[in-house]
Amino acid sequence: MELLKQRIREQGVVLSDKVLKVDAFLNHQIDPALMRELGHEFAERFRTEGITKIVTLEASGIAPAVMAGLELDVPVIFARKHQSLTLTEDLLTASVYSFTKQVENTIVVSTKHLSSSDRVLIIDDFLANGEAAKGLISIINQAGASIAGVGIVIEKSFQNGRRDLERLGHRVESLARVQRLHDGQVSFIE
Ligand code: 5GP
Repeated sequence: MELLKQRIREQGVVLSDKVLKVDAFLNHQIDPALMRELGHEFAERFRTEGITKIVTLEASGIAPAVMAGLELDVPVIFARKHQSLTLTEDLLTASVYSFTKQVENTIVVSTKHLSSSDRVLIIDDFLANGEAAKGLISIINQAGASIAGVGIVIEKSFQNGRRDLERLGHRVESLARVQRLHDGQVSFIE
């Protein structure tokens, strides 16, 4: 998606050969107009899939996921990383190793919001090694729901996430695919 790649070129900060910071429009400050375009693009790619729910992970997946949910007219569930006192019902859980924070988190979704009749689109901000997506897949599988695919805003194609998810049989749609982070520059797979 050219608009997104342009924004990454303009505002992305290459922190290392592995980490890209996009705090100006996605991970801290959020650009709603850009999010609307990302949501529209996800919706276009998955419109014929009979999606009934979108599942993402707090916090940075929420903005693009909500915009996609608005277009597809379906609810958006965000898995929580910290168990809240208000989450008192039965929970679906998975353990996820965080690439950026380098800690293991338990992520949770209430059984109340997912059922075996759901067809789910997973959305997240970044794809690195696929740990977050695999945790969400585990939760959706526990609910007995089916998975239409995984929508990613920024894929770092030099890491193993796409390969692992495709090996598990999942469709991966990324709006920008980063081939390399080097010398402060971002290069994309066109
Ligand atoms: P994975 O679970 O695929 O290994 O990593 C994806 C998760 O880690 C995303 O949910 C995202 O929050 C975070 N992440 C991974 N790589 C980056 C990165 O280069 N920049 C930022 N901002 N977040 C990342």
